[in-house]
Amino acid sequence: MRVFRPYPEHLLLEGISNELPAKTRVLAFAPHPDDEVFGCGGALALFADRGADVRVIIVTDGEAGLSEDPSAASNIRREESLRAAKHLGYVPPDFWGLPDRGLGVWTLVDRIITATAKSRAELIFLPSPLEIHPDHQALGLAGILALPALAASSEVWFYEISQPLSEPTHLIPINSVMEKKNAAMACFQSQLTQLPYGQRIAGLNHFRAYHLGPNVSAAEAFVAVTPGNHDVWQCFFDSALRVRTLLLTARRYLHQKLLLARENQALVQTNAELARTSVELQQTVAAFQAEIARTSVELQQTVAAFQAEIDAYRSSTSWRITAPLRALVSLLRRSGSSERR
Ligand SMILES: [Zn+2]
Repeated sequence: MRVFRPYPEHLLLEGISNELPAKTRVLAFAPHPDDEVFGCGGALALFADRGADVRVIIVTDGEAGLSEDPSAASNIRREESLRAAKHLGYVPPDFWGLPDRGLGVWTLVDRIITATAKSRAELIFLPSPLEIHPDHQALGLAGILALPALAASSEVWFYEISQPLSEPTHLIPINSVMEKKNAAMACFQSQLTQLPYGQRIAGLNHFRAYHLGPNVSAAEAFVAVTPGNHDVWQCFFDSALRVRTLLLTARRYLHQKLLLARENQALVQTNAELARTSVELQQTVAAFQAEIARTSVELQQTVAAFQAEIDAYRSSTSWRITAPLRALVSLLRRSGSSERR
């Protein structure tokens, strides 16, 4: 008889760290203004409290998340992140202003590597590529593609927002800074009026304390990739997820290519049609102008011939001889008409 043997409880939790490493330069990448706070705001506040140099790069302005015109929406959302930064204790974030809901993975890879090298960050935060929002996925995936360059000198920590990480490597207690995180989350009024994001993230952080004992009431979860362990495919994904992510990316890429090719073809056809119509129009106009010129010359010739005929008639002998007769006829007509009145 086969007996079910549960996997040892302590082994399931073994290896999950609750410590923030002793890093002095930290850089967080966020897809939109608010993700830096929702995803890793607690950890950033803890690093800032320790006196670490904490930098934040916000990749898009999240302008698609508001009904205002894009530049007004960008300003509102940037302002919210700037206010949140003050609550969490780090310098104003940098904004790249890339298009919201339009992030391309490959262009981000180089930018992430360059920005990280420039900041000399020892620890980088990025969204998990298993997030739901396409910009979150793109930034997370770009981070993974940049890993061979990043993980040589920095630890890379992936954070969760809307899609909980299934196997976190770190659960960091954030009780001591939860008040600051709540204050920072409250800065995103433009988003909170649409959904109570702050409550939902606070709920997630509360749940993350489940295994951390009675003294911890809130935690943030991360999957960390360290220089000695940068085989992210093994520690982050099982093979099914890896295939799914790759397929999704490939499918989206091919779909975009296909759409572009179709648009291009339609444009080429329209262009050819326009060129044909333009030539036809020019030919019609030229033919019309030639006809007008021809008719005008003919008319001038007819008028001249007619004039010559009249002149010849008036200068003829018979015209001159009959002049008294015409004068008489004219006189008689006038007197006849005055008698009838
Ligand atoms: Zn976002």
